[in-house]
Amino acid sequence: MVYVTGFKCFRCGRRYESHEIEQLPIPRCECGSALDAEYDYRSIKKVILRDEFMRTTPTHWKYWAFMPVEDLSKCITIGEGATPLLENKKLSKKNRLLIKYEAANPTGSFKDRGSSLEITKALEFKKKKVALASTGNMGASVAAYAAFAGLECRVFIPDIAGKEKITQIKAYGAETIAVEGDYSVAMKRAEEYVISNTDSFLTGDYPWRSEGTKTVGFEIADQLYWHVPDYIVVPIGNGTLIYSIYQAFRELSLVGITDKIPRIIGVQVENCSPVTDAWKNNLNEIIPVRNPKTIATAIACGDPIDGLAALKAIRDSGGFAVKVTDNEALSARNSLSRNGIFVEPSGAVAYAGYIENNLEGTVVCIATGHGLKDMYGLP
Ligand SMILES: *Cc1c(COP(=O)(O)O)cnc(C)c1O
Repeated sequence: MVYVTGFKCFRCGRRYESHEIEQLPIPRCECGSALDAEYDYRSIKKVILRDEFMRTTPTHWKYWAFMPVEDLSKCITIGEGATPLLENKKLSKKNRLLIKYEAANPTGSFKDRGSSLEITKALEFKKKKVALASTGNMGASVAAYAAFAGLECRVFIPDIAGKEKITQIKAYGAETIAVEGDYSVAMKRAEEYVISNTDSFLTGDYPWRSEGTKTVGFEIADQLYWHVPDYIVVPIGNGTLIYSIYQAFRELSLVGITDKIPRIIGVQVENCSPVTDAWKNNLNEIIPVRNPKTIATAIACGDPIDGLAALKAIRDSGGFAVKVTDNEALSARNSLSRNGIFVEPSGAVAYAGYIENNLEGTVVCIATGHGLKDMYGLP
């Protein structure tokens, strides 16, 4: 029941068989770049193009055919996905605006979609522990799913992570290791750990996570009765979310359910904008930002793992990339919360991008994380 046919490198284009990737402690191309899963869309088309798929309520595991899972009876789920797509006219400009409220996931961010699949894979590979680097939300999410599945969890935390998020990670019983340095340094520590501990599984922005994260995009199309919005505005940290959303719409059109791909707009913050800069300067590589300083800590990824993938999503969909300031993000957070939609600063970055730019037609902004996670600047 697995429709994945292999993996392909984003940078050098090298192809791998699934089993070659599954055996690696760090699922990445030999050239160091991230990998993209490839599927047998013809077979998927046969299983899903049915009335009930089109009509049943959107939920994360409804889209199982687009995820690499061996045995659906062994999925680890604690209620991820099925988040609301909210319309509040007080928040929109002249066009139609919808907010995909990912804070409604079990641990308060969209990360739960990827974690559900990753922990399912960790069990499939018979691992006992999971390890990852996180500025907070991914750590809390993986810690929750690992705890639920009975796996040990070790989180390497860079100095930018917020106190509430560290508390949430510890509440799920995970071990936290404070790392001196930024997210990229923490990531190296997590990777070293899985290389020397063969019973552990590396979670984070590697291929499995991206496959699970696609369900944000599937749900948006499904909630609009398979009409495709004109724009989707997405914050970029490591770039996994934006690529996954693009990929979801690409796959829906490949199997003939939808007929176009929305323009994907990437938003970063001024002090950490390596993807936006690469887009503006028409580069084919990402120039890392050292020690980024921003209040939007969940997207402070100076050397984004899926940076090239994010660029591809923006370019291939005919979108663009912008920056907002920390203050614009905070003021967007305040507008959202005063209209009943509470998000953390990073969760308001897409909406800030919408406010600062003129987009017409139906626009969906992704509100990625819950306001209770980081209440920076609130009285
Ligand atoms: C992880 C995260 C992001 C960024 O997602 P990437 O996949 O790293 O680009 C944005 N907002 C919040 C709240 C997050 O937790």
